[in-house]
Amino acid sequence: MIIRLKTPFKKLLLSVGLLSSAVFGVQAQDMLAAQSPLDKQMELIDSIALRDILLNEANMFPAEDLYDTWSNDRVRFESAMPDSFRVDLRGFAMPTTNTKITDVYGYRPRRRRVHQGLDIKVQIGDTIRSAFDGKVRIVKNQGRRRGYGRYVVIRHNNGLETLYGHLSKWLVTEGQVVKAGQPIALGGNTGRSTGAHLHFETLLAGKNINPELMFDFESQDVTGDFYTYRKGVYQTIDKKSGKIVESAEPLYHKVRKGESLSVIARKCGVSVNTLYRLNKMNSRTVLRIGQRIRYR
Ligand SMILES: [Zn+2]
Repeated sequence: MIIRLKTPFKKLLLSVGLLSSAVFGVQAQDMLAAQSPLDKQMELIDSIALRDILLNEANMFPAEDLYDTWSNDRVRFESAMPDSFRVDLRGFAMPTTNTKITDVYGYRPRRRRVHQGLDIKVQIGDTIRSAFDGKVRIVKNQGRRRGYGRYVVIRHNNGLETLYGHLSKWLVTEGQVVKAGQPIALGGNTGRSTGAHLHFETLLAGKNINPELMFDFESQDVTGDFYTYRKGVYQTIDKKSGKIVESAEPLYHKVRKGESLSVIARKCGVSVNTLYRLNKMNSRTVLRIGQRIRYR
């Protein structure tokens, strides 16, 4: 099992924080440090460290604040999304050692649907691992040519849920507690899939989030120690710097009968040129009824 952490200090905090008995060990050290004036400074540092550890302990299961239901009914569900939520990524493990992204998250204009996850090239039989500590919520098969095929959903202690699709074999059962890096399945080509790959989703409170905001498969790392979700804020990852870029959430207009781009521009309060730019269109583009036009 490989759990990589950003700094040795955090590694210490996390390992101590995860073992309750070790907390008392630190407390004892704290009292010893208080005996010598020279160690006053150290005592203060230890107290801060101890406070952090205790806070960490109290906050070890943010998932409990986020979810009030537990069921294997559905992957996505209606829930009140928090205004913001910070996901602790420090205890991560990469779900696969493969690095090749074959399809990204987002809206597919040609197929008129949203690709809810990230596709990573894997071979049939490759080990797929749990991204964090957690509990298996769903182990299901959507059918031979349908959807995810064999898939697994895990609810993690940090509040995030992850989904692994097109698997050839399951190694866990519903309700099972898993550790970060624990093998949960073998990669495959089941469901609606052409060629073996892992379909990987990250969800918060029943809603999808772009996995690339948290996981960088190419460098086999997370994007930072924490990822902060913010309601109504559109986040993309800058490929060059690896940093998250935030902008206002994009807005769309659905084309109705008789509407031209200039009519839509007027209705949405933007210029026709803005619509050209956002939708990669020009004056010769023919609109379809029901088509989504981005205007912000
Ligand atoms: Zn996919």
